[in-house]
Amino acid sequence: MKPIKCPKCNAGEGNIDNADDMCELLGLSAVERQYKSWLCGKCNHFFNDDEAEFPIIEYNLEKMTLSQIADLISNSWNNMPLKIDEYVEAMSQIESIEDKYGDYETGAEIVTYFLANAKSWQGDIAKDVKQHLNNLINNYGKQLEKIKNAKTGQPIQLTGYAVFDKDGNDTGKRFARKEDAEEYTKALRESENNNKKIK
Ligand SMILES: [Zn+2]
Repeated sequence: MKPIKCPKCNAGEGNIDNADDMCELLGLSAVERQYKSWLCGKCNHFFNDDEAEFPIIEYNLEKMTLSQIADLISNSWNNMPLKIDEYVEAMSQIESIEDKYGDYETGAEIVTYFLANAKSWQGDIAKDVKQHLNNLINNYGKQLEKIKNAKTGQPIQLTGYAVFDKDGNDTGKRFARKEDAEEYTKALRESENNNKKIK
């Protein structure tokens, strides 16, 4: 995300460039650009985020998928380190922390890696996003604990519609749609009845 104007001459966003990129282009060193992040092409003023004004981004994290949150991170984290870009790219390909990423990693792992490496990301949006992702991970951890600790047949409370066997015991199986849970329950009962007939 670029600053909306130059703090010195008020030139618009079109005149503002990433100082790093510009110095590389012009063959200047970080010392020459005074370690600043931005350069105004109109008045040649170098400046940092704390002097700059940024566009206001509206977001509602509770309603956002992981891929939407990944977009928000990319748009609001200036000069994101390359290493972190990988995690954000991975996040942009999954919708929830329960999703799998590739063959071996879970969404929860990707988000955990991201959080472990996102300490340098500062500001209001950074604070909100990190808090939200931490909550997601903590709640997910609690769900996993519940599954691990549940004794066989003990009803456990999780997101989704539960499937109960004929004795009313929780099978531990969950479906996102009620119809699917009912259909699975029906199939389970039919197979139990068939087993009885065979005996
Ligand atoms: Zn300027």
